[in-house]
Amino acid sequence: MFESLSDKLDSALHVLKGHGQITEVNVAETLKEVRRALVDADVNYKIAKEFTTTVKEKALGQDVLTALKPGQMMVKLVKDELTQLMGGDAEGINLSGNPSVILMSGLQGSGKTTFSGKLANYLKTKKSKNPLLVACDVYRPAAINQLHVVGEQIGVEVFSDEGNQDPVAISKAAIAHAKANGHNVVIIDTAGRLAVDEAMMTEIANIYSAIQPQETLFVVDSMTGQDAVNTAKAFNDRLNFDGVILTKLDGDTRGGAAISIKSVVNKPIKFIGTGEKMDAIDVFYPSRMADRILG
Ligand code: GDP
Repeated sequence: MFESLSDKLDSALHVLKGHGQITEVNVAETLKEVRRALVDADVNYKIAKEFTTTVKEKALGQDVLTALKPGQMMVKLVKDELTQLMGGDAEGINLSGNPSVILMSGLQGSGKTTFSGKLANYLKTKKSKNPLLVACDVYRPAAINQLHVVGEQIGVEVFSDEGNQDPVAISKAAIAHAKANGHNVVIIDTAGRLAVDEAMMTEIANIYSAIQPQETLFVVDSMTGQDAVNTAKAFNDRLNFDGVILTKLDGDTRGGAAISIKSVVNKPIKFIGTGEKMDAIDVFYPSRMADRILG
């Protein structure tokens, strides 16, 4: 479906080389291809442009013009820069608390509830933790049920208090329950709205200041492209979150949102969601994502 950018660059520069010396103009032309590929992959245009300017300077500084395989050198340069831009090595999550409290934020439909389950399952099976899931969506009884279904599937207890309209009180009660019952991780699934609004932001900011979580994660649907950046910015301005979860990467998106979000909020992407099942979770690796974006 997508033509590989690596192949394109390689053959473009190779052909050019066969016809005489590669020039700065040729490099600029090639970088236009890179920019187009990034924009096709949903990277914000301005960010893609800044990116190619940086790569151009590096390319000219690194003798791409006289390299034996300029295409490959260019691809490597682009890949290394993308990897660096997305955050270098994978970063874990802070589990130093007792219990460690993880607050999930994001819009409705982003995959928050599903990811809360996946993370609980991951921590239980891979890190030998004893998590407690907390249903804090006081507006949608269906969301509370959904979390119970998830909890049952993975054998993790779910704390909820139907009828209680105060998410701060529910969160505090859940943490007390966790302490009393030996849960060392508490994952709080909060209410999401269809768009960023003041009431929603105030509510989650109140939960945040009341419980002081070790980790606040922002969940975003990778298919939402440019909107993902605006939403990330709005949540970060209010919550100063610790990390990003990029969901639905099993779809046909190239995942350029990863670059845009990282550039705008400068927070690490920690995990990715790759399906609806409870084991469809992966630690985020910038170099793998760079490969995906480059095709
Ligand atoms: P919430 O409103 O933020 O809690 O979102 P949900 O967890 O209910 O997810 C919304 C929809 O997206 C559900 O149908 C999920 O099954 C689906 N979903 C969540 N994560 C993924 C994912 O990584 N891949 C796919 N394909 N679907 C997902």
